[in-house]
Amino acid sequence: MDPVIASGVFALGLIFGSFLNVCIYRLPRGLSVVLPGSACPHCGKHIRFYDNVPVLSWLILRGRCRKCQGRITARYAVVELLTGFLFLCCYWNLGLTIAMLKCVMFGFLLLGLIFTDAETHLLPDKMTLPGLAFGLIISLFVPINDLASLLLSSAVQFPVSSDFSWRLFSFMDAGFGAIIGSSFLYGVGAIYLRARGVEGMGFGDVKLMAMIGAFLGVRLTILTIFAASIAGSLFGMWTVLAVWIKRTQRRKHVFHESGPAARRRAWGSAVVALRRHQMPFGVFLGSMGLVAFFYGQQFLRWYWRLL
Ligand SMILES: [Zn+2]
Repeated sequence: MDPVIASGVFALGLIFGSFLNVCIYRLPRGLSVVLPGSACPHCGKHIRFYDNVPVLSWLILRGRCRKCQGRITARYAVVELLTGFLFLCCYWNLGLTIAMLKCVMFGFLLLGLIFTDAETHLLPDKMTLPGLAFGLIISLFVPINDLASLLLSSAVQFPVSSDFSWRLFSFMDAGFGAIIGSSFLYGVGAIYLRARGVEGMGFGDVKLMAMIGAFLGVRLTILTIFAASIAGSLFGMWTVLAVWIKRTQRRKHVFHESGPAARRRAWGSAVVALRRHQMPFGVFLGSMGLVAFFYGQQFLRWYWRLL
């Protein structure tokens, strides 16, 4: 790894992270990400270039606007740093290659979608659909080596060059990944709607999974959905427990209820709270998609050996 290139890549990541913050704020609000330039979300004042340096400006101004002293959330610095490290990590693993471009693009889109979903419960089409198209196209240049490649390449012999056939199989893998990922999520959403009468998953999640599928292929897509469901359930249980404990304490101390009665009533309201609270499932799908991209193959190899 060349230290000069590595620092350049990291700096580029910080700049892209800064742009990603603009997207996270503006895309769900239907605003242009190009014009006008950066402005304070509180007073609307234009932010000068010297106050717009990734991470540093946020630290120097201690997370406040220079003009109105309004709070600027730590998310700005966090997203910039994460994008910087993402770029560095892709370069570290893959060098300056097309595979690195794919890795960078996937991580960039997912970071944006994760934070947008967490803040607004929206997954903008302007991120997922171009992402889906990019994932399909890049599969023609970076092999996915999934089911179609593994099963078909030995079974079907094309009367054309091997260079053409691996691209075709890789593209099929991306396509199958997108179809399986989105239809799986669509199915789960439909069952959820039937069973609980509330919409647990929107079309945003379905399109997000189509995009993830195009980047990962079928196997890692299924792995992503399973891992995200487990992570989401654990998070849900943790939330219920936390709310339950907190409300039991309050009932005991404020309303002077007896232990068992306080626990019983608090449990009821904790379950209701979870049902009302819409979990941003895209956060779990996105982060598990990233984990699967970096560690999924290793995990599957380890898993098959275990069986
Ligand atoms: Zn301001």
